[in-house]
Amino acid sequence: MFTQAKNYLQQYFGYESFRTGQEEIIKRVLSGQNTAGIMPTGGGKSICYQIPALILPGITLVISPLISLMKDQVDALWQVGIPATFLNSTLSAQEVRQRLSDLQYGEYKILYIAPERMDSPQFMEQLQSLPVSLVAVDEAHCISQWGHDFRPSYLRIHSLLEQFPKKPAVIALTATATPQVREDICFLLDIPAESAIVTGFERTNLSFKMVKGQNRLEYLKQYVMRNKNEAGIIYAATRKEVDHLYEYLQKQGIQTGRYHAGMSDHERSAQQDLFLQDDITVMVATNAFGMGIDKSNVRYVIHYQLPKNMESYYQEAGRAGRDGLDSECILLFTAQDIQVQRYLIEQSHHEARKNQELQKLNQMKDYCYTEGCLQAFILQYFGEEHPTPCGRCSNCADDRVSVDVTREAQMVLSCMIRMGERFGKTIISQVLTGSSNKKVLDMRFHELSTYGILKQKSAKDVMDFIDFLTSEQYIGITGGQYPVLYVANKGKEVLLGKEHVMRKEQIEVIQVAANDELFERLRELRKEIASEENVPPFVIFSDQTLRDMCVKLPQTAEVLLNVKGVGLQKQQRYGERFTSLIHAYVQEHPDLDPPTEIKVPKQKERKEASHLVTYELYKQGYSLQEIAKERDLSLITIENHILQCGSEGLEVIWEKIIVPQYEAAIEEVIAQIGSERLKPIKEQLSDEVSYFMIKAVIVRNELRKKQYM
Ligand code: ADP
Ligand code: ZN
Repeated sequence: MFTQAKNYLQQYFGYESFRTGQEEIIKRVLSGQNTAGIMPTGGGKSICYQIPALILPGITLVISPLISLMKDQVDALWQVGIPATFLNSTLSAQEVRQRLSDLQYGEYKILYIAPERMDSPQFMEQLQSLPVSLVAVDEAHCISQWGHDFRPSYLRIHSLLEQFPKKPAVIALTATATPQVREDICFLLDIPAESAIVTGFERTNLSFKMVKGQNRLEYLKQYVMRNKNEAGIIYAATRKEVDHLYEYLQKQGIQTGRYHAGMSDHERSAQQDLFLQDDITVMVATNAFGMGIDKSNVRYVIHYQLPKNMESYYQEAGRAGRDGLDSECILLFTAQDIQVQRYLIEQSHHEARKNQELQKLNQMKDYCYTEGCLQAFILQYFGEEHPTPCGRCSNCADDRVSVDVTREAQMVLSCMIRMGERFGKTIISQVLTGSSNKKVLDMRFHELSTYGILKQKSAKDVMDFIDFLTSEQYIGITGGQYPVLYVANKGKEVLLGKEHVMRKEQIEVIQVAANDELFERLRELRKEIASEENVPPFVIFSDQTLRDMCVKLPQTAEVLLNVKGVGLQKQQRYGERFTSLIHAYVQEHPDLDPPTEIKVPKQKERKEASHLVTYELYKQGYSLQEIAKERDLSLITIENHILQCGSEGLEVIWEKIIVPQYEAAIEEVIAQIGSERLKPIKEQLSDEVSYFMIKAVIVRNELRKKQYM
């Protein structure tokens, strides 16, 4: 069976080999064992249940907490040729009934449901009659009360499994499991500890950066401008801050979106769609944004403020680079944020949680101050032992030059002491730069010896410098809402001349992805197709696939199959448009180096052989069900083989596939709405009309057209 899994990986998804973990997980699932897969975001969890779904008989039921994701997931599966559907609260009762009945008839291989569905006894009963052979639990950490997203409905999964006449196997998947959460998952879903497969959590395409003691707004602006063709998410802590950054970036002429809980549902989903469709590149948002999106080509995630714990941080930052291309995760740190977060936690009334949250905040703070590898720090946090330095993060790859700023630091610190250590950075910097602001004069600060000693600098520069001293812990902060600065112990050493203050050059913004003319053109074509198909562009092809096209320059459909992420169905549907664009580009650029090795895809041959094997049996009079059983393939695969044979001109008895009484109705719907997409056609016809029947009519019509020509 495993050879078949590999064939499907190539045929449906266009990938040559499994990634770490995938193979072992799939093998276990196929042998009927309950299995857990713990892999980082972008590690490729979905394929771990999607491929078994194709191989196992019946249906794979996927429990997924993110309703907004379901449609995209289902669309993406249709794109690669896997029939899938979902049931959630966005559907009417009538639609639910329809889908359930299609499921009974084997129209779909994968069914997504929201966990809350399981709270309805009636729905549980309806499920009982479905031939479910695998239950996939996505975001499985939601089952644990120790996790950060506990969903009580997940606790019903156990009884769901019990109620099927034949108990299905389980596969639990998550990216965020601390050891405790992992234990919960295994315990609650009957997964033996040795079947919990944990792959490394390292995201080798992400570079983590800590930007400290620098003007955040300025950094942000430069970064976004420098990367204006790339998609990015900027997380801010409050709605007010989101609005502020949103307006600021818009004013700079950047196409920006925003997302927070203060907007209406309608506004939010409109903004989200613009982002998914690549109509805007930058999204400024609170942490309310992202749970429901799976956009794979996010090139950077910037945290404008400190997140409250490492779990949230890694999850939010991890939305960058799901497609495996180099991406950046930047935290713009100011020490004051820690203070604000601490204040908010202390205000909460939940005593038990308070301590836990303060402890998590402290670990977040340690992350900000660590001088070691940032990625390694994160891995250690999630329980990985002895992670090695990544070599990419801002601590590993820091070659900035330091400048001695001890004298200026002493000026600031002694001014603070003279002012009584009772003020915030604004007024301190006003005194240092000699401002004649009313408050300064009222407090008689102009009589201090440190008044105006930094007057050659702007108040803003001095404030940035104070932020720097705070971020390096020379200055401490107390007070919640109105922070007050004081000279910390490390700062006292500076005043005594025992410690030097070194300041590094500012971290420069870099361009995360190379600009490339062909890539831009491919991106445009992808966008065009995506709007025709009404799906987000990354569902058509990932950025990684487009980059691979730029390298391999495929000019024929055959060679296109060698490109990462191009499976058979996408090759057939879009191949022509991409290869002719590339062909035209290569013609315009005769100096381009052709790729050195052009492999002829092996899969293509195998695939041909496979449908011909099916055809042999078909000719001998076996039914399609029998062939499926005999060949250990799914019925859908066999049906597709027959259609392929038909379209290649081999004799197929259409009357046996297309039930005569429905033929006219199918023809009529196709004449009205075209045959680009099957789902809308199916929706207009009676339940008895299967997808196979519809596809058969389309193939037969094509054949007839050819014969008349
Ligand atoms: P996760 O759910 O773990 O965040 P996904 O399942 O969305 O990750 O997969 C992330 C990306 O990696 C997708 O674009 C997927 O197509 C790709 N991918 C998955 N498996 C492989 C593989 N074996 N080879 C290459 N790319 C893969
Ligand atoms: Zn590192």
